Amino acid sequence: MRWTPGEGVFWRPAPQADGFAAGDREIDADVAIIGSGPGGAAAARVFANAGARVVVIEEGPPEERFRPNQGQVMRYHMQEGGAMVATGSTFMPIAAGRGVGGGSLINSAIAWRCPGEVLDSWTPVIGSDRFCAREMKPVYDELWEMLGIWETRPEIAGENNDLVVRGVRALGLDGGYLSRATPNCVGCGTCNFGCPSGGKASVNHNLLVEATSNGARILADTKIDGFLSTGNRVVGVTGRSFHPDTREPGGRVTVRTAKVIVACGGIGTPRLLSRSGLDLGPAVGVGLHVHPGNGVFGISDTPVRWWQGATQGAYFHVKGLPGVLPHTSSLPPEVALLAMSAVGIDAPSGMALLDYLSGLLVMISDKGSGTVGSWPDGRAKITYDFDPGDVDRVKAGMVASAKVLLAGGAKRLFCAVAGVGQHTTAESLEAALATRTIRDFTLYASHPMSSCRMGQDPQTSVIRADGRAHRLEGLYLADSSIFPTSLGVNPSITTMAMATIIAGGLAATG
Ligand SMILES: Cc1cc2nc3c(=O)[nH]c(=O)nc-3n(C[C@H](O)[C@H](O)[C@H](O)COP(=O)(O)OP(=O)(O)OC[C@H]3O[C@@H](n4cnc5c(N)ncnc54)[C@H](O)[C@@H]3O)c2cc1C
Ligand code: SF4
Repeated sequence: MRWTPGEGVFWRPAPQADGFAAGDREIDADVAIIGSGPGGAAAARVFANAGARVVVIEEGPPEERFRPNQGQVMRYHMQEGGAMVATGSTFMPIAAGRGVGGGSLINSAIAWRCPGEVLDSWTPVIGSDRFCAREMKPVYDELWEMLGIWETRPEIAGENNDLVVRGVRALGLDGGYLSRATPNCVGCGTCNFGCPSGGKASVNHNLLVEATSNGARILADTKIDGFLSTGNRVVGVTGRSFHPDTREPGGRVTVRTAKVIVACGGIGTPRLLSRSGLDLGPAVGVGLHVHPGNGVFGISDTPVRWWQGATQGAYFHVKGLPGVLPHTSSLPPEVALLAMSAVGIDAPSGMALLDYLSGLLVMISDKGSGTVGSWPDGRAKITYDFDPGDVDRVKAGMVASAKVLLAGGAKRLFCAVAGVGQHTTAESLEAALATRTIRDFTLYASHPMSSCRMGQDPQTSVIRADGRAHRLEGLYLADSSIFPTSLGVNPSITTMAMATIIAGGLAATG
C-alpha cells in the first residue's frame, strides 16, 4: 500500500505488531527504528516505501488499551507510568506517550505548522536549509492531507470550545477553532485517554499501516537498552521483551542492521543515549525545552460540561506576545477537584461545579531549559530551570485567557496557583498573580523536545543536518529531541515532517 495525495484515506485498522516474546530473538534488518511515535512512524514509512527491510522496536504494547480513566492510560500508554517529573526551579510533571503510535495515541491531535521564522532561524545553526519553511511546506501539505487535518467543526466542538471562540471573537482576537488530526472525530472529549471511535489519525492508523503494508515489522513490548558497535560504527541494537501486564522480563532481542534510527522522544532518546556508553559528545540530554504552561478555569452560570466535544478545539494568539499560545483545556474530574481544592473549594462544592467549568491552558515557547540523563535504574533524570521572562509570559497569557473566558460567558475564574483565589475580573487575577513565583504554580508539560539537538557544532548538538550522529556512523535521530529550538506550537506534525525529510535523504543515498 502506498498513500497518494487526494486518495482521502485517513484511518485504517492498526497494524499487526509482535507482542511479548518469552524467547530470545535475533533479527537482521536494513534499518532498525527505536520508538514508534510520530518520528519513528514517519521514518518507518519512508524507509519501507523505499524497499528497505525495516524493524520498528517499541517499548509499549502492540495494541491500543484505551479506557476512559487516568490510571489505565498511565499504566499502559504513558512513559514511566506517567510519573516523570522535572526538578529545578520547581517540580513539573512531564508527560510522554507509549505504545505503537507513541504520543499520538494519547495526544489531543492539535496540528500546527511550525512558524516559518522559527524554521528559517535553524538554517545557520544546522548549516543547511533542508528544514526551512520553503522545504517543509510540501511535507506539511502531504501530512495535512494524509492525516485528514481539518479545523474543528462547530457541530462537534462542544460548549467548552464554543465559549472560548465566543470570547475570542467578542474581543476581536486572532484565534478560533483549532486544526486537529481528527478526520472522523465525534467529539467525545477523551483524546488523552486514547480515541475509542476511530476519530483520531494517530500514527498507528496511517503511517505505520503504510510501513507494515510495505514489509516493516513492529516488535512491541520490547525495550531497547544497548547498541552494538564496531569502531566508530553502530551496527545494531539489543533489548528485552517485557510482559505488558506483569512487567516480567522475557527474552532478549538483537537486531543487526546498517542503520539505527533512535526516535524515543524528547525524554526517551537522551534517556537511552546517556546510558549507552556510546561516544556522542557533551550535548546529549542538554537544552531540553518543554512548552511549560498553566491553566485558567472559568465557572459559568449555565452548564458547559467540558468533557463533551473536541478535547482541545480552540485557541488564540496573545497580542504582542509571540510564542504564547493558550488553547482550550479540560481536566478529568479527580484532577479538577484537586485544582479547585487549591483555591479553597471543598470536594462537595467542587463536585457541584464540575458541570459549569471551562478552561484554557497557556503554553509558551520557552527560553528556560533543562537536562535529561538517566538514574541507575533506567528512569529519566530530568531537570528544568525557568527563565524569569518565561514566568512573566505565562502570567500574561493567563490574564489574556481570563479575559477570553469572561468574554465567552464565564462568571468567575480560578487557576491552580497557590494563594491566588477566585476572581470575577481579569484585572484582580492579574494583581493576585503579580506576587506569585513559579513555585506557587501547578505546572504541566507534555512537549519534551530539543534534548539531543541538530546543529553544526558537536559541542552543542548531537546530530548533523542529515540526522547522523556527529561522532558515529550508522546512528541517526529522527524525533522531537532534535529541534534546534523550542517550536512555540504543538510539535507532533513537525516531528513527522522532519523525520520524513531525514529518512527520505537517507533512503535516497542508500
Ligand atoms: C497528553 C499529551 C497531549 C499532547 N497533545 C499534543 C497535541 O495536541 N498536538 C501535538 O502536536 N502534540 C501533542 N503532544 C506532544 C506529542 O504527542 C509529542 O510531541 C510527539 O508524540 C513526539 O513524538 P516523538 O516521535 O518524538 O516521540 P514519542 O511520541 O514520545 O514516541 C517515542 C516512543 O518511543 C518509545 N520508547 C521510548 N524509549 C524506548 C526504548 N528504550 N525502547 C523502545 N521504545 C522506546 C516510547 O514508548 C514511545 O512510544 C501531546 C503529548 C501528550 C503526552
Ligand atoms: S474527541 Fe473523541 S472522537 Fe474526537 S479524536 Fe478525541 S477521542 Fe477521538
